[in-house]
Amino acid sequence: MTSKPKILIVYTGGTIGMVKDYKTKALKAFDFDQILHKIPELQQLNCIIDTISFKNPIDSSDMNIAYYIQIAEIIADKYNDFDGFVVLTGSDTMSYVSSAISFMFENLQKPVIFTGSQLPIGDLRTDAKENLITSIEIASAQNNGEPIIQEVGLYFEYKLYRANRTTKISAEHFQAFSSMNYPPLAESGVHLNFNHAILTANTKKENKLIFRKRLCSNIVILKLFPGITEAVIANYLNIKGLKGIVLETYGAGNAPTSEWFLKIIEKFIANGVYIVNVTQCSGGSVMPGHYETSTRLKDIGIVNGKDITTESAVAKMMYLLGENLAKEEFKTYFEMPLRGEISA
Ligand code: ASP
Repeated sequence: MTSKPKILIVYTGGTIGMVKDYKTKALKAFDFDQILHKIPELQQLNCIIDTISFKNPIDSSDMNIAYYIQIAEIIADKYNDFDGFVVLTGSDTMSYVSSAISFMFENLQKPVIFTGSQLPIGDLRTDAKENLITSIEIASAQNNGEPIIQEVGLYFEYKLYRANRTTKISAEHFQAFSSMNYPPLAESGVHLNFNHAILTANTKKENKLIFRKRLCSNIVILKLFPGITEAVIANYLNIKGLKGIVLETYGAGNAPTSEWFLKIIEKFIANGVYIVNVTQCSGGSVMPGHYETSTRLKDIGIVNGKDITTESAVAKMMYLLGENLAKEEFKTYFEMPLRGEISA
């Protein structure tokens, strides 16, 4: 008899974990220890489920580095006891959180699937049950005793994405996420179809899991818009301890060519602040030098974020800054895919 995969559900908070009190109509937190009783369908899954919950579940708007570490520590502590992990968080910041977790683990050889829902699990029209049940199925899916997914994924509304490629796109539709620059890793229809050709496979079994939890959050996202003033951008120079800027530029990485703008950017770089160029577009890539408007930025030495999402750029910057790399190393590592977050 083959043993069933063991899956740990980590509940951190968010809409998914709420039930409606039909008398008062109010939403209230759901006791996750009771999950198998409340969702009897879970008992039909071919796996053994255990749960662990934050003592005080949070709305994901309150996420921060301390919570990232808390989630990652649970996974690291239980890594050898379980075959897969399903992490439930609110959808609002799920792309940021799951991207960060993807960078914190190197040589991951087990599935870590983030999911949540737009409607609480106790709501009649909820999307929570499908999201949760399929996420558990994905986390338990194996091929010759090996997990099919060996990376951090995000499952929502019939699609499994590489987590660090996702963006939340809707506060209304059940299809709340998209991954514009990378195809889904799996799709759920009548069958659960994995896109095997594009999965991350850690082939070197002997490579042990490395867990890195030094993250630096002294960073900002600076989104350009036509008319942004010198005074506003120059003020960022006064931020004490600022280490990095995710610069959201236009289109293929284009920015104003005004001397004042370029001077300020040069000043940041001279001050040791890393600047990564990412596009404001939901899809496509920064292409330094493609237009004249990005040539100077390239010459000044800003880092090319290529087709990374803003969420993933924030997470990668927190991670690489925590590693205290030399300037050239930071640029080299940022511009290469570490967890499949950018196209090579
Ligand atoms: N505000 C909630 C959160 O992100 C929304 C959700 O759970 O989807 O925690």
